[in-house]
Amino acid sequence: MAAYEPEDPPFELVKRADWGAVVEYPHPPGSWNPKNGGIILHCLSQDRVSPESHSNCFARVRELQVAHMVAPGPEGVPAEPDIAHSYLVCQHGTVFEGRGVLRRPFANDTISGGNMRYYAVCALIGVQDTPSDGVLASLDALDQYLGDLAGNYAAGLEILPYDAESGSPGDGIRAALRSGGVGGRPRPTQPVPKPKPITVVSRAGWGAAEPRDPIGTVSTSSRTGFLVHYSAGSASQTPRQLQNGMMNRGLSDVGYNFLVDVEGVVYEGRGWHGLGAHASGFNTAYVGICVIGFNDDMNNGSGGLKRPIADALLSMYHKANDIMGKELTASYHGRVESTECPGAILRAWVNGGMPGTVREVADGFGGGHGSIGGGGGNGTYPNVIYRSVSSQQRAVNGLGYTPPLVVDGSFGPLTEAGVKWLQRLVGTDADGIWGPNTEAAYLAYVGGSSRGDTSIRSVAGQQRAVNGLGYTPKLDVDGVFGPLTEAGVKWLQRRVGTGDDGMWGPNTEAAYLAHIGQSNDVGAVRSVAGQQRAVNGLGYTPQLVVDGDFGSLTEAGVRWLQRLVGVADDGLWGPNTETAYLRHVGNSGSGGRGTTDVRPVSYQQRAVNTLGHRPPLDVDGEFGPLTDAGVRWLQRLVGVPDDGLWGPTTERAHQSYLDHGARLTVDGEFGPTTVRATQRAIGATPDGDWGTASKRALQRHLNDVDDAGLVVDGDFGQASVKALQTYLNRIVGAGLTVDGDWGGATTSALQRALNLAKF
Ligand SMILES: [Zn+2]
Ligand SMILES: [Zn+2]
Repeated sequence: MAAYEPEDPPFELVKRADWGAVVEYPHPPGSWNPKNGGIILHCLSQDRVSPESHSNCFARVRELQVAHMVAPGPEGVPAEPDIAHSYLVCQHGTVFEGRGVLRRPFANDTISGGNMRYYAVCALIGVQDTPSDGVLASLDALDQYLGDLAGNYAAGLEILPYDAESGSPGDGIRAALRSGGVGGRPRPTQPVPKPKPITVVSRAGWGAAEPRDPIGTVSTSSRTGFLVHYSAGSASQTPRQLQNGMMNRGLSDVGYNFLVDVEGVVYEGRGWHGLGAHASGFNTAYVGICVIGFNDDMNNGSGGLKRPIADALLSMYHKANDIMGKELTASYHGRVESTECPGAILRAWVNGGMPGTVREVADGFGGGHGSIGGGGGNGTYPNVIYRSVSSQQRAVNGLGYTPPLVVDGSFGPLTEAGVKWLQRLVGTDADGIWGPNTEAAYLAYVGGSSRGDTSIRSVAGQQRAVNGLGYTPKLDVDGVFGPLTEAGVKWLQRRVGTGDDGMWGPNTEAAYLAHIGQSNDVGAVRSVAGQQRAVNGLGYTPQLVVDGDFGSLTEAGVRWLQRLVGVADDGLWGPNTETAYLRHVGNSGSGGRGTTDVRPVSYQQRAVNTLGHRPPLDVDGEFGPLTDAGVRWLQRLVGVPDDGLWGPTTERAHQSYLDHGARLTVDGEFGPTTVRATQRAIGATPDGDWGTASKRALQRHLNDVDDAGLVVDGDFGQASVKALQTYLNRIVGAGLTVDGDWGGATTSALQRALNLAKF
């Protein structure tokens, strides 16, 4: 290790132990080769550390670590195990050790593979701040130091701003990069990487069904706005599933003009000129674009919108302006109709001016049904850069990887190892990045583009469906489309009454769904993991492994459950099984929880997770003891009686919490985030600095709202703290001892009040 940590770095280095890091981070497996990349420079967004006091810098680094570690990840995925940056540099020129040299960072999401090839170095300044000479000198020294390390840990020659065009790391550092003031070691001039274009998938590309009735068109002159939505369902839903759901509810087609998935891939819906069905009264004037997923699916880890989604929406907005020849009003669904759509994160993003990078959006798509000549052989538009992470995971599993990956859409070290394994198998470079070469090699391996495409139904799904209809001998569910599978699919096609061409396209899908009497509507089908948990929950032995993978053991378990609940044991969990199961477990809509709850259980589970409940609940639609505890936790958080029943009172309080609350972690720490929320509530400048001006404002506030009768002197002494405690006891029932001592309990009560927008 000594080779990587010279005795004498050319800057003041504060080691983890010395700033008070809260964990020793285990070395993650996985690829880490900064030699093939270099360094990416970051700064804080709106946050900044007050430069007067160097002790604030230590506190800020500790807070960042905690923030990165508590931020809820996607469903079921743990939060980050550590601070996300490799190093942090403060205005005083001091360097703080983050993940250091040996562990790859988790902050470089603007470049594909960025966390495998670049150190993440963060200046502790806001994007609008001027960097001090000290911070610039230390960034430059750190570049030298990392470049001089031994072996693969030596930083390569690239030194890049986090954002290619604007924003982090701020104009000051950007200028120093250009002038060589930072990154001064000899290197060839680097071309500034052009942001990669937005990936778009045409209707043909995602296997859209034809609209039931012709869709009307809207002239460009009638368009005046751009309306953001969310699907409020699972982020893993395909556009086709959404379309099926909307058509089953009586629409002629998917209602939106475009869809965007959580990786920022755009899917063509009704197109630029199609009359939408997304917001009544606004379908002519507004282009409707829907993000597929729910709040927590879009969270970038610190409450903001994930970068790829932001870039896709912003780029589509600019493209819309180009096409309509004017600046459209950017808005969201909840502004024009009474709805929660598009959720807190997208609302905040639109309200915050839609920050992001405008990227290129291809011409030649978006004409809607009929105007697209197909998106190419495998159904994707030329800008496709990679397959979605969950699709990569399914592909890896489909080729027989053991143990199978969890299909969660999250690219961690296990998925990376699986993708490399697949790359070796299909004969392409094992770099862990699913680019066009891997896609082509994979499609060739599994038997060609028309067969490997997962946009309608995966090969494994086709095999299961064939088996489910009683095909003998049963197909191996291996995700490989060989001659046996093809014969099975043809057999199924004849069985369900459609042309037996062996290709599972939209017609086969529709005929199959009709045959098995399954609507395929949103939420109609229980996930495989949900089926496994349900089987286990009824006492099946030995218990199934809950891995989301439908193999022969799971099928046997489902058949067992079906016999138990009294339906035909075909191994397919359709509506009949669901209904019988719910009746069996006493969870039905008649007399059960369903009559009092105004929200489905899965919604409640997601809502609990979104507000940061640890550990996250499984989103399986089942109301067990853990969900009960989670809902009670949420009720306490939003300030209603914790009876575990999501009725109208909880609904209103939750809505108000999402719309107006500060959404602070209730930890009793009066850190910059809490300070800023307090400042906002009392009308002080939200600079995170708790100085005399803020104290005066709080005294005035307490006089205004609670007749406290304080002298407004900015010296927040015992009398002022007592007034604060009295007020908190009154508005949130905090039960504080009114002792004039501002401790953690008082701050926690303050945080609760701010979260409830009551302060
Ligand atoms: Zn400092
Ligand atoms: Zn909406």
